[in-house]
Amino acid sequence: MPEKMPGVCIIGGGMCGLSAALKLVSEGIPVTVLERGSPVGSKNVSGGILWGRDLEEVIPRFWEEMPFERPITSKRISLLTDKSGFTVEFKNTDWRKPPFAGFSVLRARVDKWLASKVTELAQARAVPDVNIIEGVLVEGFTYDAHGHVVGILQGGEELQFEAYLLCDGANSRLLDETPLVSKEQRALKKGSRKYKMAQQEWGAKVIIQLDEKAIEERFNLMPGDGVANEMVLGFLPKGIRAGGFMYSNKDTISLGVMLAMESAWRRDFYFRDALDQYIRHPYIQPFVRGGEEVEYATHWAPIGGINWMPELFDDRLLVGGDTAQMLLSTGLNIEGMNYAIKSGLLAGATFADAWRAGKNFSAAALSSYERRLWNSFVLQDLAQFRNIDQITGNPRLFYDYPRLIESVFSKIVWPTGQPKKTFGESIGLTILGSGLAPQLMADGAKAALSELVPASIARIPILGPMLTKELVTRRRRRMLRVLYHDMKKDEGERAMRAVEEKADEAQARAAPAHPHGADAGGGHA
Ligand SMILES: Cc1cc2nc3c(=O)[nH]c(=O)nc-3n(C[C@H](O)[C@H](O)[C@H](O)COP(=O)(O)OP(=O)(O)OC[C@H]3O[C@@H](n4cnc5c(N)ncnc54)[C@H](O)[C@@H]3O)c2cc1C
Repeated sequence: MPEKMPGVCIIGGGMCGLSAALKLVSEGIPVTVLERGSPVGSKNVSGGILWGRDLEEVIPRFWEEMPFERPITSKRISLLTDKSGFTVEFKNTDWRKPPFAGFSVLRARVDKWLASKVTELAQARAVPDVNIIEGVLVEGFTYDAHGHVVGILQGGEELQFEAYLLCDGANSRLLDETPLVSKEQRALKKGSRKYKMAQQEWGAKVIIQLDEKAIEERFNLMPGDGVANEMVLGFLPKGIRAGGFMYSNKDTISLGVMLAMESAWRRDFYFRDALDQYIRHPYIQPFVRGGEEVEYATHWAPIGGINWMPELFDDRLLVGGDTAQMLLSTGLNIEGMNYAIKSGLLAGATFADAWRAGKNFSAAALSSYERRLWNSFVLQDLAQFRNIDQITGNPRLFYDYPRLIESVFSKIVWPTGQPKKTFGESIGLTILGSGLAPQLMADGAKAALSELVPASIARIPILGPMLTKELVTRRRRRMLRVLYHDMKKDEGERAMRAVEEKADEAQARAAPAHPHGADAGGGHA
């Protein structure tokens, strides 16, 4: 007999899960968080800048307690080629005080702190049955007769809670078992590399230890201030698409790359190759030289956005954070933690309503989760930027355009002993000389349209979400049909090749015994 447990079970104690737990406890509802890492946070990787102030809903003035590294007062965007770096910087000293823009954080510390806040709040409000259990891997779900989740499997035992939030992070194994994804998607996850590549990017990160003062001098920061620098890595082999980040912590620097798997796997190019080249780059070296690498971690990042989002609710089940592809990577920012926190808070609020309505955790009751997400920045942003891959997936952005900018600025700032040209002439002539003018115009128009159209649809009051959902669903169905067809064709071809190879082998084995076979007219009847 399955063991019955009170309240909501949260699978995954990351940003999403712990925020949901905080919301549930603040509403007086029992909750159990099951986290495979021990301690909480030990399995998590983030760049990581925590943008926004969503935690304020459950921890007012959270920045007074949260163990953050530095408030972000500078945002830099850089384009690197093998020998140059072009950077735009926006600095705002207002960002060093409330309302902050963001904080550099180390997940091992922040996740642990969030978990302690759940326990603290439960004690303060005398909420019973609140548990955060570390070092526990949820192995699977159990289902009722209609295929809806009813329990979880852990250590070979079945436990049944009243409802579940699945937030076990990117590339979830558990999601694929649930009714939130179709059978077709499950098959594709196993058999189609293209399907997986549309949804996940590789991330790798190192933490480099340095003296606090050295960090402030090298990054041109006032004491205590912090910088977030996003980069286009234009020095990697042509065709490889990767972005980089460099964030200042108190006495460490977080340095990492996000590599588009699709651009790299055929060429046996791995994230460690990209990361090593990045660390050695002449633009990066002045910041990190002499520092000691104290941590290295890799992680998947979900980049499918709303296009590859699963269904968000079912009987007794909600999904949030990375598991639901709630991450925005625009090239200017990587934002996932704030989406995870917000979705966790909204999942908590949805469960709380269902609890108060007589513990009605039916899909109909939990459907308000999706409405709440649409009323927040989570789905509105993901809807508006749903075609961002048309910009970030453009290989010219990672090779040709950084070189073009290098060429333009070299001409503008480099005195050659010849009369100077105007800026307009320098830019125009360089673009014309590069032969990239038509592509640049076409890419510019495509980029503008790919953002404007979805944004203007998503913003139509009331109708916007419905229209966007319909368009996204249709596009996903079309893409699934194509991918499924390709996968079956590949499988068919592989099976055919295997049969042919077996036949060839059999023939080869048979050949010495029949040196004068049928072809030679020497049958042995
Ligand atoms: C290299 C890199 C850099 C990034 N930089 C940034 C950044 O600067 N800013 C930003 O906002 N976002 C960034 N992100 C994204 C951000 O890290 C994620 O969006 C965010 O952590 C998602 O939170 P989550 O709670 O959904 O998932 P996670 O934080 O991944 O938490 C999932 C939890 O579930 C646990 N778990 C998994 N399986 C099980 C199981 N079967 N049973 C029990 N527990 C399980 C895991 O151990 C983990 O603790 C970055 C991501 C990467 C990879």
